[in-house]
Amino acid sequence: MEEMLILLKPDGMVRRYSGARALKSILELNPEIKFFEIIKPDKDFLAEKHYGEHKGKFFYDNLINFMSYTELAVIIAAGDNITEKVRNLLGKTMCEKADPLSIRGRYGTTKGINLVHASDSKETAEKETTLWKSIIKIETSKNYLEEMKKYISKYENFPMIDSVRYREISKALTDKEIEKGDAEKILKELLMRETDFEEDKVKELPALITENILLG
Ligand code: ADP
Ligand code: MG
Repeated sequence: MEEMLILLKPDGMVRRYSGARALKSILELNPEIKFFEIIKPDKDFLAEKHYGEHKGKFFYDNLINFMSYTELAVIIAAGDNITEKVRNLLGKTMCEKADPLSIRGRYGTTKGINLVHASDSKETAEKETTLWKSIIKIETSKNYLEEMKKYISKYENFPMIDSVRYREISKALTDKEIEKGDAEKILKELLMRETDFEEDKVKELPALITENILLG
C-alpha cells in the first residue's frame, strides 16, 4: 500500500491548536498510521537528505534553519492514493494562496511558514518514507494511531491565534508599514500565547518567520 511522509513543521509544533487541528483533519481521511513520533532530526539530515532537492533555491537556507529549529511530529501514513488525498487537504504551498478551507489556507501561519510538510507525489512519497525509515525505529508492538490521537487530544483545547492576525503582520511587514524588529516582537507575543514551549525554545522563530516573509 502507498505510504507517505507527513511532518508537523515548527510552526505546527509551537502553535499547538493549529497543529492538532491539522493532524485531526488528516485522520479524517482514515489513513493507516504506520509511525508517529516527536523527533528532532539532525540539521544535516534535513539539509542534505530530506530537502536536498531544494539546495541552491532562494528559500533553501531559511527553510533549513526553520525546519531544524524545533522537534517535529513525524508521521508515516498509508492508504490508497494517500499522497494525493493529503496534498489536496493541505492546499497550495504558500498559505495566502492556499484554498481557505485547506489546512495551509486555514491554519498555516503565513507564506512558506505553512504548518505541515507532506510528500508531494507518489515518487517523492516512496523516496521520503525510505529515507526517514533510515533514522527512525518502527516498533510493531506500538499503536501509532493511538499515539497520534493522544497528541491531538492533548493540544486541541489550546488557545489559538487566528492565522488572519499573523497574515496581517506579514502584510504590514511586506508593505513596509512596520519594521522587522517590531513585527518580530508581535509575532513572539502571539506565539507565546498559543504554546506551552519555553520562551527560550521559540525565541528565534519570529526572525525565521520574518525572513521567510521577506523572501518575496
Ligand atoms: P511543498 O512543501 O508544498 O511541497 P516545496 O517542496 O516547493 O513545497 O517547498 C518546500 C518548502 O519550502 C515549502 O513548504 C515552504 O516551506 C518553503 N518554500 C517554498 N517556496 C517558497 C517561497 N517562495 N517562499 C518562502 N518559502 C518557500
Ligand atoms: Mg515539496
